[in-house]
Amino acid sequence: MSDIETFRRETRAWLLQNCPPEMCQPIRNDEDMYWGGRNARFQSEAQRLWFERMVERGWTVPGWPRVYGGGGLGGEEAAVLQQEMRTLGCRLPLYSFGIWMLGPVLLKYGSEVQRLEHLPRIARGEIRWCQGYSEPNAGSDLASLATRAELHDDHFIVNGQKIWTSYANLSDWIFCLVRTDSARKQAGISFVLFDMQTPGVSTRPTLLISGKSPFCETFFDNVKVPRENLVGELDGGWSIAKYLLAHEREMIGNIGNPAEAKTVGQVAVEAVGLDPQGRLLDPDLRSQIASFEVDEAAFAAWTEMTGDLARRREGHPAISSALKYYGAELNKRRWELMAASGGADALEWEGSRSNEGMIARTWLRTKGNSIEGGTSEVQLNVVAKHILGLPGA
Ligand SMILES: Cc1cc2nc3c(=O)[nH]c(=O)nc-3n(C[C@H](O)[C@H](O)[C@H](O)COP(=O)(O)OP(=O)(O)OC[C@H]3O[C@@H](n4cnc5c(N)ncnc54)[C@H](O)[C@@H]3O)c2cc1C
Repeated sequence: MSDIETFRRETRAWLLQNCPPEMCQPIRNDEDMYWGGRNARFQSEAQRLWFERMVERGWTVPGWPRVYGGGGLGGEEAAVLQQEMRTLGCRLPLYSFGIWMLGPVLLKYGSEVQRLEHLPRIARGEIRWCQGYSEPNAGSDLASLATRAELHDDHFIVNGQKIWTSYANLSDWIFCLVRTDSARKQAGISFVLFDMQTPGVSTRPTLLISGKSPFCETFFDNVKVPRENLVGELDGGWSIAKYLLAHEREMIGNIGNPAEAKTVGQVAVEAVGLDPQGRLLDPDLRSQIASFEVDEAAFAAWTEMTGDLARRREGHPAISSALKYYGAELNKRRWELMAASGGADALEWEGSRSNEGMIARTWLRTKGNSIEGGTSEVQLNVVAKHILGLPGA
């Protein structure tokens, strides 16, 4: 038996023994996802156990080096772990922008001091991070950002406003793009980190059509940030910002893949029922779900292939835009079908029968998938220009 097959067998055995049965159930609501942070609370004993066991093995960040709290797994092993978790339906033990966005940046651009300070605390879920990129006049045209950071010897003074900062009101630290040179556009941007409890930082939650408020306006009023919190070079933040965006787009693209929630087919069977041949009763819905599931399977195979290419360093630099575009559109389609399949429960907004309107609220939330992390139109521009090489794109 090859090493990787042995690893797969041992991993599966460990997961079967250590993942509590409740943590292999489909996700029902936001509380089923543990985000960590200074003020985090576990929803159940099973959630705490699962999180702590995975932290101990370094498997909240299986591919990071052990010295930073990771599992030290190679690319192929990390992929096997992910496949086995998916097969068994194990929930992620920790949801984290620190893992998906800031971590890769610090591994590539951070100083050793910054890595040792932040990465283990991300791996252990101690600090929750938010992303301070967008501003009222800088979204798709991110390089127009105007939040200023003036350098005074050993610290910056930051003034300005961010918008759409997801979970800023619940986060402990922010990774933030600031303007350190107003004469140059991209070349005048720096990437800094700071504690959200620093005097002068305030947040104002924004209510969405889903009835929830996952994001905020974030204000900086003479915020003092130590110079050592600058990542990379002064005025060198644009390359870092783009590197992080590629990771963010991969993360968002992955929502196209089946998650640890009920499938469209399961929801439809529960709401519509089966005919005597064991097929979904509604033939029109049946054909729409079949077509969706074919596209979902094709996307899963494609993301696996792009992952393999990336591990061999043969991936295309712009592929994250293609992943983000297709994954976001697929997830929107999934929840259109969930809403269409869910019967009366899918229209409910409150009440335990519908799990507090889970389908209706998630369906509305997915509308933002093709905006967050860069809009679908902007991703299509990138694909046209950098992958297809279309003239004039
Ligand atoms: C759910 C959600 C969570 C978010 N979380 C965060 C966060 O945590 N931190 C953060 O910093 N930001 C966050 N954002 C903001 C997000 O990054 C921006 O909304 C996004 O980049 C688009 O910017 P904008 O809203 O200013 O739209 P605009 O840039 O004003 O775009 C408006 C419209 O014009 C189109 N458009 C713009 N430029 C072009 C072009 N060149 N070619 C073709 N069409 C174009 C767009 O596609 C869009 O349809 C979040 C957004 C959402 C929806």
